[in-house]
Amino acid sequence: MRYAKVDTRSDLHSVEVPSTAKQVDFLMLLQEELKELGFCDVMYDELTTFLTATIPSNLPEEHADVPTIGFIAHVDTADFNSENIQPQVFHHYDGQDVVLNQEQNIVMSVEEFPHLKNYVGETLVTTDGTTLLGADDKAGLVSIVQAGIYLLNHPEIKHGKIRLAFGCDEEIGKGAHRFDAESFGADFAYTLDSGEVGKLEYETFNAAGAKLVFHGTSVHPGSAYGVMVNALAEAAKFFNRLPKVEVPEKTKGYDGFYMLSQQKGDIGEVRATYIIRDHSKEKFLERKANFLQLVEEQNNTYDHPRIDCTIVDQYYNMYDILKEDMTPVELAKEAYRACGIEPVINPFRGGTDGCIITFKGIPTPNLFTGAENLHGQYEFVTLESMQKASDVVLKIIELTTDK
Ligand SMILES: [Zn+2]
Repeated sequence: MRYAKVDTRSDLHSVEVPSTAKQVDFLMLLQEELKELGFCDVMYDELTTFLTATIPSNLPEEHADVPTIGFIAHVDTADFNSENIQPQVFHHYDGQDVVLNQEQNIVMSVEEFPHLKNYVGETLVTTDGTTLLGADDKAGLVSIVQAGIYLLNHPEIKHGKIRLAFGCDEEIGKGAHRFDAESFGADFAYTLDSGEVGKLEYETFNAAGAKLVFHGTSVHPGSAYGVMVNALAEAAKFFNRLPKVEVPEKTKGYDGFYMLSQQKGDIGEVRATYIIRDHSKEKFLERKANFLQLVEEQNNTYDHPRIDCTIVDQYYNMYDILKEDMTPVELAKEAYRACGIEPVINPFRGGTDGCIITFKGIPTPNLFTGAENLHGQYEFVTLESMQKASDVVLKIIELTTDK
């Protein structure tokens, strides 16, 4: 709750690194606390904007081959009000509607959020209805730190080297690009950044972003005959040439899509942003090629090319690397089951920091944090869920050492 109260919102439109200074303020606080708790090599790196720490191996020399495992969480919170976060605790949650804010009549109802029923009797942590909670991803952070504290206090538990990393700007898709996999030095790692208990993600989208500029010819409508090219109309025409059913609201599972995410302008010029997503690498490449072809075809209908298009890859499906060696995934599944948790595995219709870190050389699936209703005022997590996430971290470490 103390961590949740610290405003660490990132800012997509900032050009600073990290995007907001308050994330670093939080990492400085965390840095001091990790040092006091006895973690080793606690260090904030201004270039990577990651705070890293180590729990050294306590195995005898002849077991130096036990893999180094990393655990990673992000400290920034999503693009939602994060000013004056006031977490509330409901002990022995009774399964009824939760009044988040009496004054403003903000209620989290069981009808709207039936998952609440899964937490009867647990210690429920919510917002006051006016901010997000930031359990995404401070719940993940806390579960990692808690597992670390447990190991530091129980030297009789034997384990290999453990590396921890806490970073900025995950929510704006920038932080992991700065991650230094080499200095982190883990054989494999896990982000704790998924939702409800049991979730395990190791298949993600391949992702690209396309930026389009439609150049029109703006003249007075009275003298527009044969002259005006209305960029607004041309942008709409382009949108309508994309497959109608291949949009997020009409796809699920392994279906990919195109999505218009932003568009603004006037007759003279329209700027549009699309995202392109697909689990399959092959289909992803086809999608990008198809997109470019539609641009070209439309450009051919003009006196001169009026559409500029740049496509930039954002991240790739980590499964394309993980499938070569599923050890980190198998360990996670086994750890879940040993903790009495049935893994819930679905192809993730998004990306995680682990996508980028995996392609930097450290296979990094995504584990649950237990948090639900992320990125808004109904975000919540229970103490028991966070404990489960922490137990899974310890179990993965134990299983790795045993094997
Ligand atoms: Zn997150």
